[in-house]
Amino acid sequence: MSKVKKQFAVIGLGRFGGSVCKELFKMGHEVLAVDKDEDKVNEYAKFATHAVQLDSTDEKSLISMGIRNFEHVVVAIGDNIQASILTTLVLKEIGVKTVWVKAQNAYHQKVLDKIGADLVVHPEFDMGKRIAHNMSSEKIIDFIDLADDYSIVELLATSKVHNMTLIELDVRANYGVTILAFKSGKEMNIAPDPDDKIREGDILIVMGHTNDLDRFEDEGL
Ligand code: ATP
Repeated sequence: MSKVKKQFAVIGLGRFGGSVCKELFKMGHEVLAVDKDEDKVNEYAKFATHAVQLDSTDEKSLISMGIRNFEHVVVAIGDNIQASILTTLVLKEIGVKTVWVKAQNAYHQKVLDKIGADLVVHPEFDMGKRIAHNMSSEKIIDFIDLADDYSIVELLATSKVHNMTLIELDVRANYGVTILAFKSGKEMNIAPDPDDKIREGDILIVMGHTNDLDRFEDEGL
């Protein structure tokens, strides 16, 4: 984990924004917590470097609070989609470098992408997908969506691949996927050598197209 202290602002201190704020602060970063609700601001004052009450759709208030000094701003306003969109627009217009926004639904996500949000997260949707993948197979330990149809999965090595080297497995030629790393007990083998051996119970961290990953999981393990 990087030890470099960074400056973040979190706008909207609901469950999502609140947890982002607390975690960044716990990691030692400088965090500005913003909400239009005074009770929220008071609640988060101890979990942030500064906590400020303001309506983030008001460009002048944002500028006078010095939001431009923050390289990274998280917009976590959920229910009020209009306020979320307007806040994002203002932040990008006044030149905030990186704006990550929580989307409430697919339409909201599309609009945020169009107006220049640097990353749009949709926690309920993303977590639902992740849990569905984790539940669908005993071999899948975790799943991260990278882009349309590309993912990284953690797969459990079965007895079928016990004591096989990566060359023998040759997953790239056979399945079109890449083993980025594997965990053997507590040891993490990053960028493994071709003649490193896999053992039953190891956790393989594999990247590729979803169809290829499915095939590797079904036929290769
Ligand atoms: P979560 O699911 O994360 O709890 P949510 O998606 O239900 O939250 P809301 O509760 O609607 O989202 O909003 C999160 C926070 O954003 C609230 O504390 C709310 O007061 C704050 N908020 C909403 N609009 C603004 C605004 N214009 N300026 C600043 N804060 C705002």
